[in-house]
Amino acid sequence: CGIFAYLNFCVPKKRKEILDKLIKGLQRLEYRGYDSAGIGVDGGNDIEKSEQPTILIKKRGKVINLQEEIQGREDLNFDLEFDTHLGIAHTRWATHGVPNNVNSHPQRSDTNNDFVVVHNGIITNYKDIKKFLIGKGFEFESDTDTEVIAKLLKYMYDTRESDSITFRELVEGTVQQLEGAFAVVFKSTKYPGQAVASRRGSPLLIGIASKSKLSTDHIPILYSKGNNQEALNTANSTSSFQPANGDGQVEYFFASDASAIIEHTNRVIFMEDDDVAAVTDGCLSLHRIRRSVDESSTRQVQTLQ
Ligand code: GLU
Repeated sequence: CGIFAYLNFCVPKKRKEILDKLIKGLQRLEYRGYDSAGIGVDGGNDIEKSEQPTILIKKRGKVINLQEEIQGREDLNFDLEFDTHLGIAHTRWATHGVPNNVNSHPQRSDTNNDFVVVHNGIITNYKDIKKFLIGKGFEFESDTDTEVIAKLLKYMYDTRESDSITFRELVEGTVQQLEGAFAVVFKSTKYPGQAVASRRGSPLLIGIASKSKLSTDHIPILYSKGNNQEALNTANSTSSFQPANGDGQVEYFFASDASAIIEHTNRVIFMEDDDVAAVTDGCLSLHRIRRSVDESSTRQVQTLQ
């Protein structure tokens, strides 16, 4: 099983190039074993229309089956160009729910695909969350444990207190409710061009590709709540990685394994348990809910050899 995601910010890419990257990324993860595969990409590139449904394509079986399914989709304009775009992809090793198209990932919040997620791992308290969400009127379509993640996120969004809530804050609220093991990457029509990822017990790393130099190779951790006001303050000035100069062009990759990233960049950050990574306006920031006494307050951008 594996996760691969690709975000291009101010780097124009045709849909075909994006799809090819996603498929290639999944092929690099094939050795990990899987029974189905799927992707989620933007429905359109018209930023005036803020909400264009995410397209999900999911297929039981080999990555090649998914690739053929994609190539056969006559409704997809492969030449459509995206200045900024997030594509997410997944190979599934079923733990809850048989291998079939519906149970494949991405799993979704609703039929509009407002929030979609790819997940590796097992959510051990999914039954409780599912029961809660059914009580709130949610209808489930898959037999996976994963579906509760997308729907819980949607519930958080629907019941948000303020419209200024960020994608990352919603994800933090969601993953705090999860028990078990996970690596997750989220995509949303409500937050186009943004990615949020987290992990606990399952591996996830971030690759950064940018022509401009990194402003730092130690990315400070931002603490959402709790006792590290100082980190929070300094963070606001130097905080996240961003391309140091020029056009702001940058590409980010999320993957279960460096082997899927290395052909694109050798600069990677290994996420640690309970890290939440967010890409907003091309800037990567790393967050944790609270700081424990002896933990590192930065994550190093490593250069793979
Ligand atoms: N538990 C999830 C499922 O069965 C994810 C499995 C995986 O790691 O691929 O859908």
